[in-house]
Amino acid sequence: MDLARLSIWISLAWCITLVACGRAPARPVKRNPAKMRTADPTWKQAASEARTISPRKWTQDQLSEFVLHEGGEDQKIVALTFDDGPHASSTQAILAILRQENVRATFFVVGFMAKKRPDLVRAAFREGHEIGNHSFSHASLTKVPYSKIVTDYLAASDVIRAVTGSNPRYCRPPGGDSSTVVLEAAADLGMTSVFWTSNPGDTNRLGDHEVFRRSVNRLAPGGIILLHDGPKDTLRALVRLIRTAKMAGYRFVSLDEIKNSGAIAKSAKKREATMSW
Ligand SMILES: [Zn+2]
Repeated sequence: MDLARLSIWISLAWCITLVACGRAPARPVKRNPAKMRTADPTWKQAASEARTISPRKWTQDQLSEFVLHEGGEDQKIVALTFDDGPHASSTQAILAILRQENVRATFFVVGFMAKKRPDLVRAAFREGHEIGNHSFSHASLTKVPYSKIVTDYLAASDVIRAVTGSNPRYCRPPGGDSSTVVLEAAADLGMTSVFWTSNPGDTNRLGDHEVFRRSVNRLAPGGIILLHDGPKDTLRALVRLIRTAKMAGYRFVSLDEIKNSGAIAKSAKKREATMSW
């Protein structure tokens, strides 16, 4: 009997045994990284802290103080934000460009990644960049109850605080997935939820020219540009993007400055949907 036939017979015999035992053949388990992270001690600690946080009753006006879509339109200022880091392959390179171009930005770091590479978060913080909270697990916060949203944000804040010495004041929900409860949970933790006016889609492998073109086309006073710490296109587009914006008279500023410039609470997503590249 050749090997191929032998293996067919063995598989057949195995299936018959399984059916006889009333068991389905084993399938590979699809791992859920967000679930696996809940076993992390930082997550567990945050889950117990979350039980002590009680949701506040927010009025629309009070809550809008903790939501940032864009700044005022009077000044040519714009904020650069980098989500999803830190990354061994790109954070240092982004920092080098920002240093060279003398620009301050905001890094919305993912807690479990920041925990692995606190040195990269520290480097960004020491160079004067803002460290924002992008949740610990990077799971969508609109699909989980209040206690889990608070836990996810608190766990990331714990990691960030260990590096910077203070709690982050700004957060961005993963994927921008938001709801009133997501915004309220962030506000209960003293954080302003930050969205964007320009999303060039730099994770979509469009090529650096397209990332540059889209970013520049959407430049507007009080704007917030959403980029990612990771994609090669972003790294390649960054210098040109910064220099072009500066030549057009723009100044890159902190989220504080955007917020203080007369932030307008409006749906960036709606606004974006009506704009063309
Ligand atoms: Zn993200």
